[in-house]
Amino acid sequence: MLEVSCRDLGVADCAFIATAASMRKLENVMLEHARDEHPELIAGITEEQHEAMMHKIAAAAQETASL
Ligand SMILES: [Zn+2]
Repeated sequence: MLEVSCRDLGVADCAFIATAASMRKLENVMLEHARDEHPELIAGITEEQHEAMMHKIAAAAQETASL
């Protein structure tokens, strides 16, 4: 499994940790969470900023040992 926390992406006061089996799913889980909880983070972002966020998720993602 892969995981990435909201903190890794710069949201200091959020304890959310996304986990998924693939990087693509991980990005989706994190985007969905951001849409629900931090709409200001993704409201009106450009294609470029979206791309940068995906890179940030990929860079911050950790392999976990859990199942
Ligand atoms: Zn969050």
